[in-house]
Amino acid sequence: MAAIHNVTSGGLWMGRLSRGDDLLGAISVICRERDIRLGRVEAIGAVERAVLGYYRQQKREYEFFTLDGPHEITSLAGNVSLRDGEPMVHAHVTLSDEKGNVRGGHLAPGTIVFACELVIEAFRGPAFNRGLDDETGLPLWEL
Ligand code: ZN
Repeated sequence: MAAIHNVTSGGLWMGRLSRGDDLLGAISVICRERDIRLGRVEAIGAVERAVLGYYRQQKREYEFFTLDGPHEITSLAGNVSLRDGEPMVHAHVTLSDEKGNVRGGHLAPGTIVFACELVIEAFRGPAFNRGLDDETGLPLWEL
């Protein structure tokens, strides 16, 4: 059964990250510092290396892999919600190499920014808290 709530825009933030930032960590810090507790994130840019996750549905655990070397961020899409009362960013990325081949997955710590242009839209709405979902083993929204 779908669980969905109405949210309204609470404003937009736009900026860039610094070379050497941890991509996921830097977005998370921005959200905590600006008290963005609900919202969405998009970005483009480039990374020096990436660590991505893939969720093994049968094993119920993430496997992580590293993409060494420069890649373009062709797309980053994510959201902001609450886990243990703190803003948590969940993002997926698609990255391309020098041939235009793309790899993608769940953005993990260890992905290092070369350049990144970022838009965050804050939302007003009910609290979206993450908690362990028994059916998937994932920390999903308790709606
Ligand atoms: Zn994910």
